[in-house]
Amino acid sequence: MRVAVLSDIHANLVALDAVLADAGPVDAVWHLGDVVGYGPDPDGVVERLDEIGAVGVAGNHDRAATGTIDIDWFNTDARAAIVWTRARIGAATAEWLAALPDTRTETGVFLVHGSPADPTWEYILTAALARDGFARLPTRIGLFGHTHLPMAWTLRGSAVGSIVPEDAPAATLAEPDRYLVNPGSVGQPRDGDPRASYLILDPAQGVMSWHRVEYDIAAVQAAMRRAGLPGFLVSRLSVGF
Ligand code: ZN
Repeated sequence: MRVAVLSDIHANLVALDAVLADAGPVDAVWHLGDVVGYGPDPDGVVERLDEIGAVGVAGNHDRAATGTIDIDWFNTDARAAIVWTRARIGAATAEWLAALPDTRTETGVFLVHGSPADPTWEYILTAALARDGFARLPTRIGLFGHTHLPMAWTLRGSAVGSIVPEDAPAATLAEPDRYLVNPGSVGQPRDGDPRASYLILDPAQGVMSWHRVEYDIAAVQAAMRRAGLPGFLVSRLSVGF
């Protein structure tokens, strides 16, 4: 089973389509939330995910876009993008986003945006938070997003470690070790590499690989400027930070 795992697409349809083309035929597409927010094409991204039968979970931006959580929790630029997104999205998009669960389990793999402890908001950025995440993870393998950083936390016995794609772009999910894996961000990478990031996972074989794809960043930036989205959100796409 070959699964494309996508996270933090952030209304960037050009990046999403580049990723889907690069991934080629897959048995399933799983997404880890923040489908919208920041980018210029929320309706287009939701239509595409719906069309290909992608399943996933809600992120903080998805909840904010549908009015479930307060926008005061977001910084100024993110808040401006949410206000823009709320005004822009159609009823079908709002309905699709509102139906996303906080977590789900697909073929024995747990999907969440933030962390098993706090699905919407927590960033798993430290070994201590990863350990807490493993304690609450109901499966051997979990997938998370939110940080926009491609990497994996590992639990071998009682030792928490990590894997970064720079060292190992492909890795084995060896039993009985446990894994919390982040595919990186499709629509707004923040690891210093502006290319779209995603993961190919075969849960049955226990193998995974991270991938990077170039897309037409300038076209997305032009669309963002036309939409009047904040300048910082436009410029950060060029540097991937
Ligand atoms: Zn995000």
